[in-house]
Amino acid sequence: MASTLTAATLPGLEPAPTPADPPRPGSRAARMALPRSVDVLKEIAAEYGVCVRPLAMRRTDLATGLTEVIDLPCGATREDKCPPCAKKNRRLRQAQIREGWHRDDEPLPAPDPATDAQKSLILFRAHLEFARDEADRAAQWDQLADLDDAIREVEEAIAAEGLRGRVGPPHATADDDQGDDDPGPRRKRSTKRRQDAPELPRRKVERRTVGKTYTAADGSTFRPSMWLTLTLDSYGPVRPDGTPVNPDRYDYRRAAWDAVHFPRLLDRFWQNLRRCEGWNVQYAGCVEPQRRLAPHAHFAIRGTIPRDTLRTVAAATYHQVWWPAVDVQRYTADRPPVWDEGISAWVDPDTRQPLTTWTEALDAIDDDPDPEPVHVVRFGTQVDARGVMPGTTDAERTIRYVTKYITKHTGDVHKAATDRQRKHLDRLWHQLRVTPCTDRCANWLLYGVQPRKANAKLKPGRCKGKVHQRDTLGIGGRRVLISRDWSGKTLSDHKHDVRAWVRALLGVTTDSTTAGTLADDQGATTEPVRHAWELARPDDPDVGPLAHRLMRSISERARWRTELLAQGPGRPRDARRRDDNGDGRQDGGGAMTTHQGLWTIGDVADYLRVPQETLYRWRKVKYGPPAARIGRHLRYEPEAVRAWFREQAAA
Ligand SMILES: [Zn+2]
Ligand SMILES: [Zn+2]
Repeated sequence: MASTLTAATLPGLEPAPTPADPPRPGSRAARMALPRSVDVLKEIAAEYGVCVRPLAMRRTDLATGLTEVIDLPCGATREDKCPPCAKKNRRLRQAQIREGWHRDDEPLPAPDPATDAQKSLILFRAHLEFARDEADRAAQWDQLADLDDAIREVEEAIAAEGLRGRVGPPHATADDDQGDDDPGPRRKRSTKRRQDAPELPRRKVERRTVGKTYTAADGSTFRPSMWLTLTLDSYGPVRPDGTPVNPDRYDYRRAAWDAVHFPRLLDRFWQNLRRCEGWNVQYAGCVEPQRRLAPHAHFAIRGTIPRDTLRTVAAATYHQVWWPAVDVQRYTADRPPVWDEGISAWVDPDTRQPLTTWTEALDAIDDDPDPEPVHVVRFGTQVDARGVMPGTTDAERTIRYVTKYITKHTGDVHKAATDRQRKHLDRLWHQLRVTPCTDRCANWLLYGVQPRKANAKLKPGRCKGKVHQRDTLGIGGRRVLISRDWSGKTLSDHKHDVRAWVRALLGVTTDSTTAGTLADDQGATTEPVRHAWELARPDDPDVGPLAHRLMRSISERARWRTELLAQGPGRPRDARRRDDNGDGRQDGGGAMTTHQGLWTIGDVADYLRVPQETLYRWRKVKYGPPAARIGRHLRYEPEAVRAWFREQAAA
């Protein structure tokens, strides 16, 4: 039978090679075994921390008319978009959590006059605003999304740089509306009373953000912190794989609405907890999907709070959604209401009667003597809290756990592997598609209501808001949540990166990141405006293929690193920088420099500015600073690492 004939039994053919044999030179197998050069390029880009999907900006010198295309790091927070930027982001987050968690002093920012670095950031933000506007008008949605990411990064950097408040209101895209509080003119409604949790004690909130210190029997003091997980309510029993036992009874509608409004519930929880405890409790954490696809949140909390209090506050916390009723879906995406140009309103396709306006719909709720919220979000009964001591492996493990998934797309955290899981996801998604994401969501039209600021461009039932997309699972807002006074300290990495952007953007020193101290920048940024900026399109002739741009960036970074090594003294670059900029607020060092005793591989990677994988690879080839194994852990002696570095520099 033909199926039993293998290549080896056919006459005239060599026996099939065993898998251990190398493929015959020149064969397809041999060719396929060769690494693809473009993959290697990306791998090296990742190793050097070069963004693989940079944002091209064109800068025109107003005096000479010369233009230059400058690549900005995309600043992506997700690995599937850009591994180097995502990894950088995760490291920053870990440093940020580490810095704020167990600090024992108040991180209150000093109200200093704005530094030039701060002004540069604001200027940079302005450039991005300009580019965003251009992209918006040119309907370049991909670019727009990239720019929104960049804007978010810069605004975080602005906050980290010690500036208070927002530089401007957030852009009213559906994406933004999730995390940001911009309710418009607040309606005076009886909701104020309802939103409070009357059964909780209400204390005046002190400005204190640091927890209590405890004294042990031997007189030593310690200041423990906590780790908290909050989940949402049950929507019906689920199997271990996260799928409902009875899909028909599983409450997908509530699951969808809860997911969309989860961020508000969390806000309310912290507000209630602070009032209940009487001090300004600080947190850093993130929102992740559970296996059942509902969001839950992990938080590191500075200081300790009795578990009972956490449970009581969680049980008493709820968020009411005062939106128009959505019981009846009156239209579908295939037979939607239509826009009437004459009266500037959405009307019924048959009767041409205008739909209820947003204001009318809210007025109706106000006029109702006994109004009911359209939705109420509550936590589930499962409140998981435990104490964590500073500096323990437990603390480090927890930080890694909190940041484990932040570089992943929500939909990639739990891949639907079985039919049952895919169907569960689909059912949730179908519900999310018709759940209004914000008060401006085009989905309102399906329910016969014109959303706030309704206009002709809305696509009923096809809102582009993130929460409606299949792979967001309704978690459309920010996934990393960090309270304002978590760490008043600047993240040195973050600052450095953004300054590099600013330098590149301002054209101060585009080719020599090492040489440019802040003093140089400051001189340059005070010059009158000499450049005009615009967003370059990927297919513009002067932008050039991405591979060419990556190669240039990698080469630049590699030369820069060599220069840095050659420069010498074995001190972290951040420490040098801090001295250079004379910025008094930075005293105390970054996360890494505060470490007493031995360094972890992460500390050494930070110090040498190389990826941890590189250090592992070096060890395999017996290169790199000396390390010792302590149990399963690799540990470095800081002075030995510095000495090794000096050796390299001298060589
Ligand atoms: Zn990137
Ligand atoms: Zn929407």
